[in-house]
Amino acid sequence: MTGPTPKPWIMAIAPYIPGRSTTDDGRKVAKLSSNENPLGTSPKAREAFATAAANLERYPDASATELRDALAAKHGLDPARIIYGNGSDEVLHLAAGAFAGPGDEIMYVNYGFAVYPIAARRVGATPVIAPDKDYATDVDAILAAVTERTRVIFVANPNNPTGTYVPRAEIERLHAALRDNILLVLDHAYAEYIEGSDDDGGMALAQSAPNVLVTRTFSKMYGLAAERIGWGYGAPTIIEAMHRIRLPFSITIAGTAAAVAALGDTEFVAHTAAHNARWRTWFADEIGKLGNAGLRAVPSQANFVLVLFEGELTAEAAYKGLMDAGYIVRWLPGQGLPHGLRITIGTEDETRGVVAALRALTGAA
Ligand code: PMP
Repeated sequence: MTGPTPKPWIMAIAPYIPGRSTTDDGRKVAKLSSNENPLGTSPKAREAFATAAANLERYPDASATELRDALAAKHGLDPARIIYGNGSDEVLHLAAGAFAGPGDEIMYVNYGFAVYPIAARRVGATPVIAPDKDYATDVDAILAAVTERTRVIFVANPNNPTGTYVPRAEIERLHAALRDNILLVLDHAYAEYIEGSDDDGGMALAQSAPNVLVTRTFSKMYGLAAERIGWGYGAPTIIEAMHRIRLPFSITIAGTAAAVAALGDTEFVAHTAAHNARWRTWFADEIGKLGNAGLRAVPSQANFVLVLFEGELTAEAAYKGLMDAGYIVRWLPGQGLPHGLRITIGTEDETRGVVAALRALTGAA
């Protein structure tokens, strides 16, 4: 007996590997492997979450009116053009599922987010990887890789795992050069961490263009990774197609309550943003001082930094050394980065501790 045969494109998926939270020998140590919020969650969100425990017997509102209205008010958007899902991961899958299938191509950049190849293969589409430019998204390389079969292009901005950021003019140039039957997905999971008043103009494009979807999440800046609330914004035809294939009740009542309260807690968000900007800069500067040991920080606008190991100390050795010292970071040989560690900006103590451990490992201590 052989049992049912999975589709060949499903068996071609390399399973997603989440960030670890324990060491090889089972110790629980500082987790800097999943780009979570080191400052926790807004107290207002936690309170709203707890209050929701009073009504566990009811299904959530399938149309997520409260969440959509809160997001629309906060960002100046049309609530009818908001899609939502079990994390922005689900929204990315919905985009692939509604707009591509066997025979179509889904594109993303080299060193792109690990969910894109899974989302592409899941629907039987062919993944196409555009070359990077020194770890950053290269608009010309994306445009050169477009074919008649291209249906969806995923661009995370800032990108994970590199942290790199493509400015507005480049995103506009990319969009202007694409056919309008190609869906451009601008994944803004880390958009709240961009320093200064710049943003990539994605929301404005999603508002005006027929082929742009912006995705966002409550998992990072809002500290609600556990509750899995993501959303997207785009033209009515895009959103309507995605609604047809989403799970009817993909976001929970408690998660929604927490998310809506978190949106209102501007103090917590400002505090997180300031903390991240300060320690990201400090961390990158400190890595710069280890340049003669071959360490290099890729410029980041996110809540993590990709550190490259181009000298005697390898990323693998540093990964193990950091684990021994009590810090779990992300080593990404499966994503073509055997020479890189992605390190989440943690609390002040954690960030200082990681740097001290790296200095010791390079012999610079
Ligand atoms: N996009 C990017 C670029 C990410 O790094 C992540 C989180 N790893 C996500 C989307 C998905 O996050 P969530 O499903 O928690 O919203």
